[in-house]
Amino acid sequence: MIIVMKADVLPESPEVAQVIRLAQRYPDVRAEVRKIQGVTRVLTEVYLLGSTASIPIEPFEEFPAVEKVIRIREKYRSIGRHAGQLEAIGFEYNGVRFSQDDFHVFAGLCAVDTPENVEAMFRALHAAGLTTTRAGAYKPRTSPYDFQGHGQACLPYLFELAGKHGIKVIAMEVTHESHIDEIRDALAAAGNPTGVMLQIGTRNAQNFELLKAVGQQQEFPVLFKRGMGITLDESLNACEYVASSGNNRIIFALRGMKTHFGEPHRNMVDFGHVPVVKRLTRLPVCIDPSHSVGKKSVGSDGILDICHVTAQGIIAGANMVLVDFHPCPEQALCDGPQALLLEEMEYFLRDAEIARAAYLQRCRLRVELGGKPAVSD
Ligand code: PEP
Ligand code: MN
Repeated sequence: MIIVMKADVLPESPEVAQVIRLAQRYPDVRAEVRKIQGVTRVLTEVYLLGSTASIPIEPFEEFPAVEKVIRIREKYRSIGRHAGQLEAIGFEYNGVRFSQDDFHVFAGLCAVDTPENVEAMFRALHAAGLTTTRAGAYKPRTSPYDFQGHGQACLPYLFELAGKHGIKVIAMEVTHESHIDEIRDALAAAGNPTGVMLQIGTRNAQNFELLKAVGQQQEFPVLFKRGMGITLDESLNACEYVASSGNNRIIFALRGMKTHFGEPHRNMVDFGHVPVVKRLTRLPVCIDPSHSVGKKSVGSDGILDICHVTAQGIIAGANMVLVDFHPCPEQALCDGPQALLLEEMEYFLRDAEIARAAYLQRCRLRVELGGKPAVSD
């Protein structure tokens, strides 16, 4: 059960204490107070966990400081929308706002290789007006003989160059909890010139200890990539580990599913799930066209498949795009075949803008015609 307090009721207020005292009268019930950044305001929510089925809603609803009481489903207790009853989460990190209403492109290197390539990448981002990027230091590879990323060693120059070129957030995968400390230490040593969003890769989507570790820290937001060979329900439950451990600043990323039916793409593009995840959860949704498509095939209209699927995800309401670029893809140590050239950035971004404008226009049309969906999950 979730008790949503009225605006301006803070977690430490006597009104919240009163709610907790009432909850404690019921056996086997635990109360947890959470402060959640909603899209329109900061929300104080009291979660009643345990044997809550027999607790009546009415006594809680009667408190003047309570806005509403929601009986939550067993599923997705922390990240769930609970049939639209809870507001989406919106949070700000290092000056950048994330929510189901915002939109950002994280264009960058799949893996950091040389300082020269990082510099060229960041210079191109700056020229394009982007302050968000991706850069892999810890790379999970299929073969142990492939390049595993430069790890901790590349962080000092990566962060320094990010600061120099006005980059505010870098999405960076962590494959072990010790990487969180390495990132924190390297950022501090560089004078915190930028921010980092901790990425959980598809291979670690069910690495529950890693999920708890990124959930137990509050400093960095988390980009959770769905598992490539598990159901959406399993991925959402895995993501729930992060939120239930204490960190609800999460973005859920779609990156394609592993199946031969997706061929000739590297993965079966799953961006039709953008509205599904936005409906089921309070989280902003990211799409990764690079790891979905995996190569630079060109359509009969001259447009890259990567650009086509990006537009498809954005026009369906995606809030973030994670996309690989490289100054010289033939020399890239990881995922060169799917990397776009820096010269292709302008087209990519302008095409994405068209899709975003079309999505917003679709939303306005729906409001104008007063249409409401007939059914909902
Ligand atoms: C990546 O983004 O670099 C990556 C390895 O992605 P995924 O975990 O989706 O394969
Ligand atoms: Mn990659």
